[in-house]
Amino acid sequence: MAQHFLLSAKARTLSIVKIAMMPDEEIHNIFKQIRWSANDGEPICPHCGATSKPYNIATRNQYRCKECFHTFSVTSGTLFASHKLPLKTYLLAIAIFTNSVKSLSALQLSRELDVQYKTAWVLSHKIRESLLDDTNDEMLTGVCEIDGVYVGGKTRQINTIADRVDRRKISHPNKRVVISLRQRADIGDDVVGAVKTKTFVLKSENTFDIGNIVNNHITRGSELHADEANAYDDLHALYDMKRVNHQIEYFGKNGENNNQSESYNARFRRMQYGQCHRLSPLYLSNYANEIAYREDTRRKSNGAIANDILTRCLSRGVSNEFSGYWQGNKRVSERLGA
Ligand SMILES: [Zn+2]
Repeated sequence: MAQHFLLSAKARTLSIVKIAMMPDEEIHNIFKQIRWSANDGEPICPHCGATSKPYNIATRNQYRCKECFHTFSVTSGTLFASHKLPLKTYLLAIAIFTNSVKSLSALQLSRELDVQYKTAWVLSHKIRESLLDDTNDEMLTGVCEIDGVYVGGKTRQINTIADRVDRRKISHPNKRVVISLRQRADIGDDVVGAVKTKTFVLKSENTFDIGNIVNNHITRGSELHADEANAYDDLHALYDMKRVNHQIEYFGKNGENNNQSESYNARFRRMQYGQCHRLSPLYLSNYANEIAYREDTRRKSNGAIANDILTRCLSRGVSNEFSGYWQGNKRVSERLGA
């Protein structure tokens, strides 16, 4: 049998040891090459867009534009704007985040980098934010799967058995369900399993919201695999539905299964139980999206993933939600629905 991809040397192209030993200048060059790839790694003024060689303020690793006299650095106008830590720490954070395939808690990151918990919390959330594809409205198509995984809102068990009630009947304000839509790879593709994933947070798995999500994100007429939950019943009118009854089987006689969605759910649970533990409804959509990213990139080398994350961090603007977080700038409402 062929060796599993993750055991092969091709899957390991990133070395934390190497990053830790890199001179600061080399790290700065990596940031420059990625940030200003359009100009061969030479600075572009983020204020006026001038590409002419700026004044170099070497002592501060900054530049001053010759056209508009704006002072900037390689991280100005990016997720890492106004950074306080050395660039190497950010690169190490991305490398550690990449290798933590079941996600990474802020406490663990704070121990790895020897930074305060608050610093690690904001840093890990900025990296998570870079993984969002807000502008991607491409529809899923072909063979797709759907399923939901419930999070939060558990009521603590009462001590004495005589006082206990059926907790399934208690509704809790913090209970949410993460719906994942997954598009399967075509037969003959290099990758097996799912290739594209979209996630949505709902208060419950209900017909109305599910209908909206599926109609907005999966091409009509696609083959859609789901379990026997009632919320998917109405989709039979518009999609080629395949249903699997999980009470009796994982896989139907004609191949009906939503095992790719179950795989998403499994990784999500491992993040919740093994790493982050508490996922507040406020930022749940970002955690859900992170797991989608990890699932979709599972067959890429860790070097390629880290490179992609750094590129995302340096091409995404200043974070509206996490810059100045501990100074009071916080998200006020959760992101629900389609
Ligand atoms: Zn300028």
